Amino acid sequence: MRFTKLAAPFKFAPTQVAVLLVAVYAIVFAAVLQHDELPKVPKNTHGLDLDRAYDTLAKASSTRAGLITTRPHPYISHANDAVRRYILSRLEPLAGRHEHVHLSDDMTSNVTFAIGGDRIIYFEGTNVLLKIDGTDSSRDGVLFSCHYDSVSSAPGATDDGMGVATLLELAEYLSAPERRPRRTAVFFFNNGEEDYLNGAHAYFEHPWSNLTSVFINLEGAASGGRPLLFRSTSYGPAHAVASKAVKHPHATVLTSEAFSLGMIRSATDYEIYARGVKGEVDGLQGFDFAFYKNRAYYHTLRDSIPGMGHGEARKALWAMLETVAGSGVALLNDDESGSDARPPIYFDIFGRSLIILPMDTFYGINIALLVIGPLSTIALVVWVILASKKRSDMEAVPTEHTESKWRLMTRAVLGWERFWIALIFTALVHVALTIGFLHLNPNIVHSHAYAVLTIFLGLSFLGIVLPLQAFHAILPPTFASQKLTTTLSLYSFTWVLLVASTIAMSAKHFGSLYWATFFNFAAWLASILELVRAGWRRDPGNEMGTYSFLFTSPEEQQSRAEGAVPGRRLVRGVLHEAPEHPDDGHAEAGTNNGQADRGGDDIVETEPTEITPLIHQHRRRTEGGGEYLTVDSPEDVKVVGQPADEYGWWIAQALLLIPAIVVLLFQLEVLLLNATMHTLVDGSPPLTLYAILALFSTLIFIPIAPFAHKLPQSLNVVVAGFVILLLAICWTVFPFTQQWPFRVYFQQSVELASPQSAFSVVRAETTLTALKGYVDKHIVSDIPSSWHADVSCDPKGLRPDLMTCRWASNLLPFPGGNASITFAQEAQRKSKWLDVQTSLLNASRALISVRGQNTRGCRLYFDRPITFFYVHQSSAFPQPVPTPAPYGKMRLQGGYEMPAGGVKEARLWSRSWNRTFVVEVGWEATPDGDEVGLSGRAACEYAEYASGLGGPESGRIPAYEEVKQFLPLWALPTKLADGLVEVWTRFAV
Ligand SMILES: [Zn+2]
Repeated sequence: MRFTKLAAPFKFAPTQVAVLLVAVYAIVFAAVLQHDELPKVPKNTHGLDLDRAYDTLAKASSTRAGLITTRPHPYISHANDAVRRYILSRLEPLAGRHEHVHLSDDMTSNVTFAIGGDRIIYFEGTNVLLKIDGTDSSRDGVLFSCHYDSVSSAPGATDDGMGVATLLELAEYLSAPERRPRRTAVFFFNNGEEDYLNGAHAYFEHPWSNLTSVFINLEGAASGGRPLLFRSTSYGPAHAVASKAVKHPHATVLTSEAFSLGMIRSATDYEIYARGVKGEVDGLQGFDFAFYKNRAYYHTLRDSIPGMGHGEARKALWAMLETVAGSGVALLNDDESGSDARPPIYFDIFGRSLIILPMDTFYGINIALLVIGPLSTIALVVWVILASKKRSDMEAVPTEHTESKWRLMTRAVLGWERFWIALIFTALVHVALTIGFLHLNPNIVHSHAYAVLTIFLGLSFLGIVLPLQAFHAILPPTFASQKLTTTLSLYSFTWVLLVASTIAMSAKHFGSLYWATFFNFAAWLASILELVRAGWRRDPGNEMGTYSFLFTSPEEQQSRAEGAVPGRRLVRGVLHEAPEHPDDGHAEAGTNNGQADRGGDDIVETEPTEITPLIHQHRRRTEGGGEYLTVDSPEDVKVVGQPADEYGWWIAQALLLIPAIVVLLFQLEVLLLNATMHTLVDGSPPLTLYAILALFSTLIFIPIAPFAHKLPQSLNVVVAGFVILLLAICWTVFPFTQQWPFRVYFQQSVELASPQSAFSVVRAETTLTALKGYVDKHIVSDIPSSWHADVSCDPKGLRPDLMTCRWASNLLPFPGGNASITFAQEAQRKSKWLDVQTSLLNASRALISVRGQNTRGCRLYFDRPITFFYVHQSSAFPQPVPTPAPYGKMRLQGGYEMPAGGVKEARLWSRSWNRTFVVEVGWEATPDGDEVGLSGRAACEYAEYASGLGGPESGRIPAYEEVKQFLPLWALPTKLADGLVEVWTRFAV
């Protein structure tokens, strides 16, 4: 009895199991969530000056307070010029001070490329580059890239102010002669990323692009939080992130692969560097770090320092600086950080260490597990069967059956199917839950993500536990304990996962199922423990309180024990010698054990074991070395314990099975939730998000299956109560809040009368694009200019779930460029807001010029596709037009071609203000030649609004001010395109 008391905490019993499992899950969940927060800034920053970097971001200088983060600074803004001048002012002294440091203010790289299959881009770059010559000229250089433009609707503290501040600091740090790197470092501050990754395209027009073969790109795809290793091309460079100097790596190969599968839509400069320029520069190997949390603030005014929360911006900046400096210095100076182009598999543990292996190594491990696992498991199963056969032989239980084979087989199956049924049940529960969310309140995840997560986790728990408990109560397994059958089923489940993971690796170089390896390994170890336990006690045990005697049905055991084998009794399933005839019966028991010995009758005191009945008993030896038990009196028989009781083994199994795999899966689930919870308002399908939650929540609770039947009912009641409460909240409350606002895409479109007429506005139209059911029902009617206007809402928005509402407004924009002149005065001056000129060169070629007042971005839309495109460097429309045409030569960047069917749109960016774009275009003449000429629209873009910029040269967009002012508090505006306003007029040649 002393033993039992001592063992009680380790007993496989409801309270004990509940305490352990609740503690393990609570600790893992809490630890993952805690490590998901930004780490504190350490006192020692190892030579990196965080204060200076933070000043860059937040304060800039005494004369230009908050330059980078107070104002939007898109390419087509004067604030953009100011940021560029500031970057130059920081880099010039470095180049001036050190001979090995060189600055390039690139005002010459122009690039033309086609994109999206229907448009062509012409871009004049204003990138800034700093080169630090390495000491080892035999090695290629490393490119460090960020973009210094923001979008027009956001000050861009995260996107990409953090990147700029980080690289300015790192450039300063590495310029010091004592820190001069072995490889050359090129710091690249590019402009125009927010449009079509224009600046990165222009990099390849700069001579320094020939020096680099590895890149690190810094992005802000959201606002604040921990920077993530977003994507990586290959093992070699990514290995640098595992450098000791990177104290808080945050990474999973899953995000990289989600990009390549098209599941993440954001574009970053990464893809331009990784692609290179066909025929000229090979694609670079490398990776990007990006912020991904709080995406609700992305490209809005809340992408600001206060938007990240008190003190968070500084911590986020440090996290980026530490990570980029650590991995960057490793790339620059280490020999190992090479060019190993194999695909990698990587993930972090608690943001503390990075596990990274080449995929083929992982593949090898998988193959070994796939082979060794099943073989060893089968061997152990055979051992358990032989051991228990030996026992049943000893115990003289006959092996012939009176039951039909079919019935025996049915009985034998009982137990092995329940894990799979629990799995299917959980899946069905999640299907119902997802349908509920999709119909009742799909967007609730935007503001109540963790409540939704808790619901999915809670229902996964119940989905796994309830069927297993019901089975156990109604149909206890006959031939083995439910823990054994479920553990082995779980192992086979993870084996199937591992097969899937291995096939994905070999067929698609897809490593995101890396966690299956750990899951399978843990389940394999747990199975081995379970089988060793069963073999040790020479019986798989079962829940009927009997030894299972693998080869005999319980009824048979019962009848044989009570009838055919006189003198022995089956008491609560344990075969005992009846005390009246301690020596009887043994000899004639069993047919295949005919010579059963009645030998030594020495009565021995029982050694307590995990299967010892809790009453005083004796062990009796047979001549053959076997032994059986005998109890003292029939009264004692009543308190015989269940042989299925066990001590301790289950704890080891639970600790093997649960914590490690739940850490991996829960980290992934939290990351994916944070990356996707705010994308539904952008039109991403909610089903994907809910499917991710269902899948990971289920996987997270699968490891409790072997122990589920022991959990107390009271735990289910608590979990179910909690889930119901949260569901009641999540399915009823309004999904958007001031803290987690809705997004509304704004654009104003202003049509001017045909060319030559000055400020004569035909129609100014405000358009708001956002999620159906909100923009039309809640938003538009709040905007005063819509009150007496004819509002039309087009259900065909940018994406399936988005809707565009438009109405005419008399809130006219003003291009700016001259602070003292108002719109009315400008109109009276008869100056031209847009100046468009055209000239037909021949039947299939024309010259079109477009100039917008106080802008750097214009567009041409064509009614018929054009197949020739050339922007003349001269910015004056030639008078007279030289003939014959063509006199331009179309040149697209390597790797790009004019689409076969031509394009119907050209986008033009110039580095100078008020530039006249002189564009030569050509088209396929129709065979009959009766369709000569070209028509379309010429447009220019404006992004400066008074409250965002307010400088003397700035334009004004009263329609945007109105939307900003009158949107409900639970919504924020963002830009639809590069211009908040597009001003256009028709042309025909
Ligand atoms: Zn960005």
